[in-house]
Amino acid sequence: MNITRAYRGWRINLVTRNHRIYGFRPDGLTAPARCHPAQRQDNVLHKHHRSPHTDCECGWRLITNSQRFPEYFDGIARHWWRDRVAIQVETVGPTLPGVDSRQGPDPHDTIRARQLRWIPGSKIVIPGRLAALTEPLAANYPGRVVVLPSRDWSAFTDVVSETEVCP
Ligand SMILES: [Zn+2]
Repeated sequence: MNITRAYRGWRINLVTRNHRIYGFRPDGLTAPARCHPAQRQDNVLHKHHRSPHTDCECGWRLITNSQRFPEYFDGIARHWWRDRVAIQVETVGPTLPGVDSRQGPDPHDTIRARQLRWIPGSKIVIPGRLAALTEPLAANYPGRVVVLPSRDWSAFTDVVSETEVCP
């Protein structure tokens, strides 16, 4: 495992019913990922282990290549991304590359991480079709919401150069 380098990238992330970014604690970190037997289908090892694991498909995911973001997340099979937003994150602790999981292969440039940090001050990017989320999200995260001029993610690469927090 690579424990020395922190990767920075983008992630499609669920929004809660209270219009919060799902999975991130008030300190901006996720919980450390781990697998428990029988609780999650993606526990390929069927035993307790910390994530990511070389013989499993677990871990928090991010994509390091923002330029290819639209092609990854506008695919027909990507319907489960429908109500989700893009946020910029960095890895904390061990990482591994993406894998060919039972939901299909991870996109190129996928990194699996034990833990993620939501980068302070970074933007929450939402596709135009979810513009109705703008106001409730902005109430929780003032000044951080950016709506793409496209209904889908196609305008992401144009907009991201203005919103991306550089290392
Ligand atoms: Zn696992």
